[in-house]
Amino acid sequence: MGDMHLNWIGGREIFGTAAKANINPSDLADVVGDYVQADIAQAEEAIAAARAAFFTWSRTTPQQRFDLLDRTGALILERRQQLGELLSREEGKTLAEGIGEVVRAGQIFKFFAGEALRGAGDVLSSVRPGVDVEISLEPVGVVGLITPWNFPIAIPAWKLAPALAFGNTCVIKPADLTPGCAHALVSILHEAGAPAGVVNLVMGRGSVVGNVLVESREVDAISFTGSVPTGRSIAARCVEIGKRIQCEMGGKNPLVILDDADLDVAVNVALNGAFFSTGQRCTASSRLIVTAGIHDAFVEKLSQAMLALKVGHALEPETQIGPVVDEKQLAQNLSYVAIAREEGAEVVGGERLDRATEGFFMQPALLVGTSNTMRVNREEIFGPIASVVRVETDDEALAAANDTEFGLSAGVCTTSLSRARRFRRDLAAGMVMVNLPTAGVDYHVPFGGRKGSSIGPREQGSYARQFYTIVKTAYIG
Ligand code: NAD
Repeated sequence: MGDMHLNWIGGREIFGTAAKANINPSDLADVVGDYVQADIAQAEEAIAAARAAFFTWSRTTPQQRFDLLDRTGALILERRQQLGELLSREEGKTLAEGIGEVVRAGQIFKFFAGEALRGAGDVLSSVRPGVDVEISLEPVGVVGLITPWNFPIAIPAWKLAPALAFGNTCVIKPADLTPGCAHALVSILHEAGAPAGVVNLVMGRGSVVGNVLVESREVDAISFTGSVPTGRSIAARCVEIGKRIQCEMGGKNPLVILDDADLDVAVNVALNGAFFSTGQRCTASSRLIVTAGIHDAFVEKLSQAMLALKVGHALEPETQIGPVVDEKQLAQNLSYVAIAREEGAEVVGGERLDRATEGFFMQPALLVGTSNTMRVNREEIFGPIASVVRVETDDEALAAANDTEFGLSAGVCTTSLSRARRFRRDLAAGMVMVNLPTAGVDYHVPFGGRKGSSIGPREQGSYARQFYTIVKTAYIG
């Protein structure tokens, strides 16, 4: 048994109906802690607590909201090592990646502290004499936040911080696999002075606890990050009920390598984008689209660099690639490697690995000689697996890159300014990277995708305001 971690409802820590062990994917003998599971009634209590706290919180001064977010950001940054270790133990990112994500969460709180002060709105003259028009942005109300397992502290942070900065109250339901970081974050918010009911945490299954947030008429908006099927069904239900919705979902992100690319830059960009964080990033480069002139040299060098990556326990200092998050995800990854072989790809790497501790270790895989119509290039795998599609021309590269139902991130490696500009303009994605990995984004600018990857306004940066506030146009005679 590990330490017991409780739900946060109305400013108090409350036991659930059951508890679930949070297991370290680097070492199945290591229990990170026990985390309680809420039931439907408890999720409803959390919503009621957020509703009760809304009026007062929505009328706090920007200074009060700044102070809470700024203090929270400072505490997160102060505890980066301890929180980074927790993150690496529960999710399997390397310690360096875990600490990096924690720092990002702290910076997000600091950024939104500033956003609370900045404010927004307009005063215009009416077209009618003697009348003024005031356009103000008000908080939306009670916001339900549903988050995935792969960024267990950054995603809760980039939803909670803007929600609170703009005067909303929240109920967060983190992923069942990785509740630890969200629990730590909500505890820090209380330590930093969050009034009772302003932030509530209910842990448990999506289909039970998450579903209550979606169905409740007392929740005014849902911000969801996760898989496409779940996001689409939640969005459809929210539209039916008349609830504001924002979904960030999957990707099948292309990285285009053109003949004139700097080979070392291209290999490093692909290595980082495809395999770091065990490939478990919605922005991972899973399709490497390579023109003929550089294809063989790129594949040769990337294969060597990939096979040299050290896969192991996330907390060991020499580890570069941590384990896959769980048994189910590992089985899914290995099944896609088998599918690639059946479809005629040449597979480099892609084996399950044994290490000193029992865990879900896998050698990254490069699938060479694939076509863009193969399943491995259509479906999101969400593991350390990238496929290579060989094309002849820039036009073909662009067409292949955009031939996907997703549109989250896309990249190009080239030394030509005019080619870089063309791909920047014509890649159909929410984020475009030139000579940089498709994954790895700043915390102060908008994040989000197009096509099947996203629904609703952007998250992060000053654009986050669009989702977490609602416009009122007032006429004053
Ligand atoms: P998931 O869709 O299985 O779960 C996401 C969250 O939704 C979890 O908290 C889950 O419990 C909850 N949920 C599940 N069913 C629900 C229901 N019926 N009602 C309400 N809530 C429900 O996703 P996951 O496996 O945790 O995360 C991996 C996915 O997330 C990948 O597809 C990845 O691309 C995506 N992702 C996207 C982004 C982005 O910003 N675009 C970022 C990270 C991850």
